[in-house]
Amino acid sequence: MADDQRLLNIMPESKVDLQQNMESDEERMRKIINVLSYGIGDLYTVDVNTKEVTVYRQAGDARGISTGFKQHMSYEGLIETYISHNVYADDRNNMREFTVFKALCAALKKRKSITFHYRVMRENELHYYYLKCARVGEADSFDLIVFAFVLEDDDVFEREMRKYMEIDELTGLYNRQAFYRRAQKLLDDNPDDIFDIAISDVANFKLINSVYGEGIGDEVIKYLGKFFLENTENGICARYGGDVFVGFAKSSPDRQGEWLTSLIERAKINSPVPNIVLKCGVYRNVDRSLSISAMCDRALLAVKSVKHNYTMPYATYAGPVSQRHLLANTYESMFDSAILNEEFVVYYQPQYNSATEEIVGIEALVRWQMSDGKFVSPGEFIPIFEENGLIARLDEYVFTKVCKKIKNWMDKGVRIIPISVNLSRASAFQLTTAKRYKEIADEIGVSPKMIPLELTESASIDNQRINEFMNELKEAGFELYLDDFGSGVSSLSCFNRLPFDEIKLDKSIIDCIGDVGGEELLRHIIELAHFKEMRVVAEGVEKKEQLDFLKELDCDVIQGFYFSKPLPYEELIDCLKVEYSKTEK
Ligand code: C2E
Ligand code: MG
Ligand code: MG
Repeated sequence: MADDQRLLNIMPESKVDLQQNMESDEERMRKIINVLSYGIGDLYTVDVNTKEVTVYRQAGDARGISTGFKQHMSYEGLIETYISHNVYADDRNNMREFTVFKALCAALKKRKSITFHYRVMRENELHYYYLKCARVGEADSFDLIVFAFVLEDDDVFEREMRKYMEIDELTGLYNRQAFYRRAQKLLDDNPDDIFDIAISDVANFKLINSVYGEGIGDEVIKYLGKFFLENTENGICARYGGDVFVGFAKSSPDRQGEWLTSLIERAKINSPVPNIVLKCGVYRNVDRSLSISAMCDRALLAVKSVKHNYTMPYATYAGPVSQRHLLANTYESMFDSAILNEEFVVYYQPQYNSATEEIVGIEALVRWQMSDGKFVSPGEFIPIFEENGLIARLDEYVFTKVCKKIKNWMDKGVRIIPISVNLSRASAFQLTTAKRYKEIADEIGVSPKMIPLELTESASIDNQRINEFMNELKEAGFELYLDDFGSGVSSLSCFNRLPFDEIKLDKSIIDCIGDVGGEELLRHIIELAHFKEMRVVAEGVEKKEQLDFLKELDCDVIQGFYFSKPLPYEELIDCLKVEYSKTEK
């Protein structure tokens, strides 16, 4: 309150100006003052159309930094005088750039106020200031800007300055955003040159952190930053984030294959820890029509393909198809040890009765938590394991894990909710699958009824073997769910012909809610499924409107982020505890 009062109590350099402004438009003046922070020295306004500046002086201490200004100077005149008289030499150019009038107005269209931090040298000592500018009025119609030069404390200055200067604190290199801008500029300034982009990643960085501690981990990052900076020629390098660095430079025939291998070797020599494993991905002769971030993605894809391959220190991006091939080889070579080390982790997504909103089912969904801590979603590795047949082993692994969890619940006397498991087409084609799954369930001591099996539409495409397989599973006592219904072309035929107990409507159909044709289709599908005595589960339900509409249509079960994401086992248990406590009440 006292501050507001103090700020309102401004005194004019020119009494006439103040009178005009204060008396004719006091409300406006209040607005000006409100958008500025406390601790203002002098206060200026600039007319957007004429660029004429008016100076207001705060009562009392004006902090002595702006004496000597004339009134009604042009904006440029005032700023340049201020900068050349007050601002520390190193910060002058940045401040000039920041205060370009057109840029300032454009920035103020996006934000109500903006701030620039700078230093002032007085009596041989550096003082930290900021320039704060704000528009008076709405983004599309303001005609007045107000600004002030404000003293501030050093810590804030350091932090803000670094942000402005786009520098990564730990390494002193550009941060990622700054890199995108600088690299784009480099590209634009050199239209006839060929550029390469390279990304490096420390394959065992998580291990380094856990063995040596985060302090040493930071030392490694600092060391690498310095190393890459020293080895960058005709270009720039930056910290992309975490333990990942990126370099962008003019392509040079001397800096290809062997040079890169030796660079990676040299990086190890003076490293703070002896065993860093560096992996690089290079995207050569970048396509100029791509954004810098898309170029980085290509280099990252290349790194990924060798990240877990201990014989190859780097890879070159070779187009989307070959890139996938490389990744497939890598994943394949990692599969056995991933199973052995239990890197495949099962998550559980609860499903809710649409009328009572109680949990009535759970779907098991696999994730891959690699030894370096990286988390890979099934969308990335399942298609690869489907192609090379390894998926059948993964399915069995997940199935076994789920059987054991259910057995655990049985032993504890907990109410059992069925947990469904996804089965791939490859599993169907292994002749012993049904028998094997029954044996596993029997051995662990759970009823197959408790583990329904989900087959996708595409996995159940008309085929004699699929028919047999499904009959074998039914005979063994498993329930069968038709997954992703509506995402493919064969929907109606498998729906009609195969012995499914439940259909799961794909998210793409649920997303049609709101569209008249889509809603009509959904109504008919649900009616048809009910006519065939199948339960209907809606997948990918994210919004209340979708839930309400599905309730109206009598859709039986809801699965989707609206209620819950897939959860790690411990969180599922917490969720079930809450659920049980509700029903006990
Ligand atoms: P799915 O069987 O259709 O599983 C549902 C997918 O939808 C899951 O993706 C789940 O996280 C996601 N989802 C659920 N609710 C929502 C929502 O409200 N919004 C959105 N955007 N997504 C939602 P996830 O876990 O990434 O799995 C993808 C697919 O990978 C699965 O689709 C399934 O086909 C396959 N998959 C997962 N685990 C296994 C497995 O153990 N074996 C096999 N063969 N396939 C698996
Ligand atoms: Mg599924
Ligand atoms: Mg599905």
